[in-house]
Amino acid sequence: MPCKQEVAEHLGAKISELCSYIYAAEHRLLTLIREFDEQEGWAHLGFHSCAYWLNFKCGIDMNTARERVRVAHALGRLPKIDARFAKGAISYSKVRAVTRIAAEADEDYLLKIAKHGTAHHVEKLVRLYRRAERLQDTEAAKERHDNRQLSHHYDENGCLVIKGRFPAGQGKLIVKALEMAMEKQYSGDADADVSADHVPSGQTPHIENGPNVSAETSRRIACDSSVLRIDEDKNGEPLAIGRKSRSIPPAMRRALRMRDKGCRFPGCTNDKFVDGHHIEHWADGGETSLDNLVLLCRRHHHLVHEGGFSCDKMASGELIFRNQRNTPLPHWSLLPTVGDDDINNWLEREFFDRGINAETCRSQWYAGERMDWNLAVGHLFTKSASGASADYVPWG
Ligand SMILES: [Zn+2]
Ligand SMILES: [Zn+2]
Repeated sequence: MPCKQEVAEHLGAKISELCSYIYAAEHRLLTLIREFDEQEGWAHLGFHSCAYWLNFKCGIDMNTARERVRVAHALGRLPKIDARFAKGAISYSKVRAVTRIAAEADEDYLLKIAKHGTAHHVEKLVRLYRRAERLQDTEAAKERHDNRQLSHHYDENGCLVIKGRFPAGQGKLIVKALEMAMEKQYSGDADADVSADHVPSGQTPHIENGPNVSAETSRRIACDSSVLRIDEDKNGEPLAIGRKSRSIPPAMRRALRMRDKGCRFPGCTNDKFVDGHHIEHWADGGETSLDNLVLLCRRHHHLVHEGGFSCDKMASGELIFRNQRNTPLPHWSLLPTVGDDDINNWLEREFFDRGINAETCRSQWYAGERMDWNLAVGHLFTKSASGASADYVPWG
């Protein structure tokens, strides 16, 4: 009978072996996600992005899904790290961390850190590098601020000549103020007082007569506009106002919100910034009634009008959304379920010849070594062109 310690060792070996299988499988998953995203396989179903599709179809929360898509694309540019990850030899945690700085740093060096160090070492090094980078940015920003210049004079024609040098953010504000001053001049208000204080933040000089919009765009805008008003019945909250108006009265809007909660497009979780969409458009004889309305987020409202998608209501009351090829979209996500035998067979089939064992993903680091963080971060800033980094060891 094995003693307690032997049992624990056996369990530990099983866990680390399984981890390597999981990393190899994660690598496969990310490779597929990259290919899928490159082909925009999610677009014909009306999803905003690959992350939204992963959220709906695979049950991955939005932040994790976005991160996976990011890492998947980064790996496509890191062949050496990608190859180690495929063998189950480095973990997803390490891969995720190094991809955050991979564009700036040398891949050989990052791979060395990822192979030798623990996940803690990799995470901490990336964090310290980012902090050093921010400090450098702050110093550069201070330098830009210190080097500001502004001079102006009036030339012989009585025109103002301005010359200056500003940090980008401040420069943007100044250009905005100048554009507003120019605009005022064009509108015959040249003498109006314009100072930087009057520049509304986050607002650009507005063009009164916007560009013409397509017929479908104007239908979308008309679908949920509040241009027309109707009198509400003081006793009730009307569920239908027939053809009186295309605009949705507040009481009906509330009822619509209560019924639909958020966007009804399959796979969409958006419940803010939603429009009421007339299933049969008002211009085609559709009524303004709860029955003929459905909540859609801005993106999906856009897709249904200008994007070639459609939304119909069946006699049973069921909503059917179709894509540009007129294919109905699925309503719910069905996760495949697999039995224990299937999982074991799959692992055997996919990974058995890779020689994965309990040692595959082990860090080469041992507890006596200490990383020289300053040297290691400093080395990240000198992206090696000579390949000398392969011999560089930040541990001592
Ligand atoms: Zn609409
Ligand atoms: Zn939506």
